[in-house]
Amino acid sequence: MTESDFYSLELLLDPDGRQLLHRVREFMEKEVEPVINRYWTREEFPREIIPAMSELGVAGLAYSGYGCRGGGCLLDGMVAMELARVDSSIATFAGVHGGLAMGSIYLCGSEEQKQRWLPAMARMEKIGAFGLTEPEVGSGAARGLTTTARRDGDEWVLDGQKRWIGNATFADYVVIWARDVDDNQVKGFVVETPAPGFATTKMKDKIALRVVQNATITLDGVRVPEANRLQNARSFRDTAKVLRLTRAGVAWMAVGCGRGAYEHALAYAKERQQFGRPIAGFQLVQDQLVRMLANVTASACLCVRLSQLQDAGIADDQQSALAKAFCTVRMRETVGLARELLGGNGILLEYHVGRFVADAEAIYSYEGTREINTLIVGRAITGVGAFV
Ligand SMILES: Cc1cc2nc3c(=O)[nH]c(=O)nc-3n(C[C@H](O)[C@H](O)[C@H](O)COP(=O)(O)OP(=O)(O)OC[C@H]3O[C@@H](n4cnc5c(N)ncnc54)[C@H](O)[C@@H]3O)c2cc1C
Repeated sequence: MTESDFYSLELLLDPDGRQLLHRVREFMEKEVEPVINRYWTREEFPREIIPAMSELGVAGLAYSGYGCRGGGCLLDGMVAMELARVDSSIATFAGVHGGLAMGSIYLCGSEEQKQRWLPAMARMEKIGAFGLTEPEVGSGAARGLTTTARRDGDEWVLDGQKRWIGNATFADYVVIWARDVDDNQVKGFVVETPAPGFATTKMKDKIALRVVQNATITLDGVRVPEANRLQNARSFRDTAKVLRLTRAGVAWMAVGCGRGAYEHALAYAKERQQFGRPIAGFQLVQDQLVRMLANVTASACLCVRLSQLQDAGIADDQQSALAKAFCTVRMRETVGLARELLGGNGILLEYHVGRFVADAEAIYSYEGTREINTLIVGRAITGVGAFV
């Protein structure tokens, strides 16, 4: 058990699940933590870790069949948390691949499409990306997508631009959400790269999640066979099913990011001496530590219940949205307190907490900002939509 698992939530997993969680922990602490700051500085992704991640079998834990290990949403969430506890970029890479891209195919694909794409993705031989956001359309994606899809015989022609698309520079399958010019509905298409007319430009100089390879995608008359249109994605309501699943994963990642920062701060407080004694012995420092611990504990408990509702098949958009909004706010406070506790060293990469502070900013805004997730909950509890 980690020091941040104050209520022993890990014990909710069966022995198999716990064993997987421990293997993920070991992998992240031994293989990722020692090298990640170097990649963060250079804005590069450590692709050499993919085979070891593939062996862990963490892609597709929330799904059953199609070569996925399975295990349910609680295990999937705790693994996302465990990845983020060491590094949020690696957790994001896994979330985009296993959550957004595989989830689109799992929830919106036909039986044949799931059989065709998911097994290689579960083995991480093929990597996925998810293209929803556009340069001019972020929060308003439900209504305003400008990327178009035009049917031409047995093919579709995609035109437009996507922005912020994680993994896009090296992904094999990119799910593109586009508006059908005939019926004006949003549909999903799996673009197998490379494809004529499909181009990516890496987004540089980010101050958060620098290891994640985000890109602008240009679609210039990209032809996709009808067989690659996700057969059960008929409108944005179906896209929202994917987001419902992945927002819960992001809430878990926020718990992981907070937990990692807390554990670094706790270790530092026990070692760092001022006024002739460890700073852990000062009341105000203990107050910071306990506030951090309370944040991550409350958030984790909320996520556990959300995962249980998901596993029971009764979670709705508003429950995922509330968890994403609440946990990311608490995460932001937690990493800020950790940085404060480390004093000047809190802004040095080598102490890790600075990376957590920076990366938390991206987690706070992606997969629906706090405002948008708040409006989803607000609509559910009042019955009145207040988006515009
Ligand atoms: C690191 C990173 C990775 C990402 N990865 C992906 C990816 O893989 N695939 C993908 O498709 N997208 C991805 N995104 C995009 C992400 O989901 C969007 O950034 C997010 O949805 C917000 O959109 P925006 O940045 O365009 O902000 P905007 O929508 O322009 O919002 C700006 C501000 O206005 C507020 N706002 C907007 N509308 C309202 C309203 N009605 N009421 C109140 N406030 C409002 C927002 O809350 C925000 O504070 C990623 C983003 C980041 C930063």
